[in-house]
Amino acid sequence: MQTKLAFLLLFFLLSSVGTQAQEPKQTEDWSKKPDIVTPGKKFRAPSDALILYRSKKDLAKWQTQNGSEAQWDATMCGMTVNRTGAIFTKQPFGDCQLHIEWRTPRKVVGDGQGRGNSGIYFMGKYEVQILDSYENETYYNGQAGSIYKQSAPLVNASRKPGKWQSYDVIFHAPRFKADGSLDSPATFTVFHNGVLIQDHYILKGPSVFAGYPKYTAHEEKLPMMLQDHGNPVKYRNIWIREL
Ligand code: MG
Repeated sequence: MQTKLAFLLLFFLLSSVGTQAQEPKQTEDWSKKPDIVTPGKKFRAPSDALILYRSKKDLAKWQTQNGSEAQWDATMCGMTVNRTGAIFTKQPFGDCQLHIEWRTPRKVVGDGQGRGNSGIYFMGKYEVQILDSYENETYYNGQAGSIYKQSAPLVNASRKPGKWQSYDVIFHAPRFKADGSLDSPATFTVFHNGVLIQDHYILKGPSVFAGYPKYTAHEEKLPMMLQDHGNPVKYRNIWIREL
């Protein structure tokens, strides 16, 4: 009788966990704050890189999700998020090395996730977070250089707001078997301003705001996306090498 009761109790506990509403807070990591590191300087494209943005005309390499022209403000000094939506590369990419420079607004507006938020979604799915994380507290797996909601950066190598910063990313796309199951997961290695912040991190799945990541089979190559989170983050000197 007692074992029966114990089983019933266990059953109700498990089923209630399974049906709990997925709260964004569930997946916030506040356990260990990344140490602060002061980064060094600069980077230029190597000869075999494909330039994704260097000047105004390179905006032609980007488009909106539905394939219309990208509308971000583009000048010789960079392209800026302007609330016209995310932009995607016209060319799809899988395994790659990416260099990208970005700048959050000098004038600090908002806090936490609302301050200089953007992000690079490899294959439109796997986000390396962009955020003004200079003296700006948020959950650690959501700060600059995090693999969003999965992995906090090893250290916080953020420059002050209004300063150009760089990411150098080595991304390996996930592989799927013919039956759609996962063959090998995606991985990220990331340098922030030249400092290693993600060391061959193995992803649990795509980046999700609420709930837990889960892989679903997709193409070998997909467009890269830059997020429009409503904050005027600027980008320049973006180049990529397919691996
Ligand atoms: Mg973001």
